[in-house]
Amino acid sequence: MAGRVTLAKAVLSAIPMQTMMLLKGLCRDIGSVIRRFIWGSSSDSPKIFHINWEAICQLTDRGGIGFQKVYGQNLPFIQKLGYLLITRPQALWVRLLHEKYRINEMLPNSVVRTNYSPLWRALSNTWKDIKANLAWSLVLNNQGSWDISKLSLVFMTDATRHILGIKPHDPQAGPDLCAWRWITDQGFELKSSYSTRIATCWEDSSSLWNHIWKLQVPQQIWIFLWLAGRQKLMTNLEHCKHSLMDNSNCPICHRADETTLHTIRDCDSLQQIWHRIVP
Ligand SMILES: [Zn+2]
Repeated sequence: MAGRVTLAKAVLSAIPMQTMMLLKGLCRDIGSVIRRFIWGSSSDSPKIFHINWEAICQLTDRGGIGFQKVYGQNLPFIQKLGYLLITRPQALWVRLLHEKYRINEMLPNSVVRTNYSPLWRALSNTWKDIKANLAWSLVLNNQGSWDISKLSLVFMTDATRHILGIKPHDPQAGPDLCAWRWITDQGFELKSSYSTRIATCWEDSSSLWNHIWKLQVPQQIWIFLWLAGRQKLMTNLEHCKHSLMDNSNCPICHRADETTLHTIRDCDSLQQIWHRIVP
């Protein structure tokens, strides 16, 4: 499994990064190929997926092995396109798209059109999300007063009225800038966009995982310890849970169910080894 994880990370997970902007269905298919490859499953020889994809895609300090969801990884590319569409109105390709899709405002409420490309459809589906992640660093007009038209694009009427009651910043601070909410240098970062989007799915971090990944051992040992930490070694108990066996007893000591902990710590046959390590 360790070799397949390495290959999947190096090759399959890089596909969306190389080709950019993939359709949702294709992302789903790529994700399915990666999952089947990791567990060595094929149509001729189906295998059990011991750990679900959500857990595998966790950060390494949260019990995953650092895979990224393909669609989640691809979506920031579309968001970046929307961000550039808003922040680079003078670029030739932006002017071309504005003309083609009849975009007359800087921040239209919707970019849905009746006749559009798959890419523009993906953009229109996430447009609301793109707008929600924009921030204006300064919203002043040439006279140094609040620019009501820009404020009303972003804020509700009550909030706009409240802001108008606040003294504006010094106009010498610089021109108005539109920025991606999660970073400070007025740019767009694919990695931060992905992390922010799926941060609500993170499991709690645990020092156990950091201990495992810091070990200077071959990758197959890492994967073995990761499976053990997840309580997903294919012990007799796990075989019984999947109806592959009907006896969960340890085949060596016959004293207890063969669980993950029993296999690596509690079995009588291991006691001499553990006593050498921990006298
Ligand atoms: Zn035993």
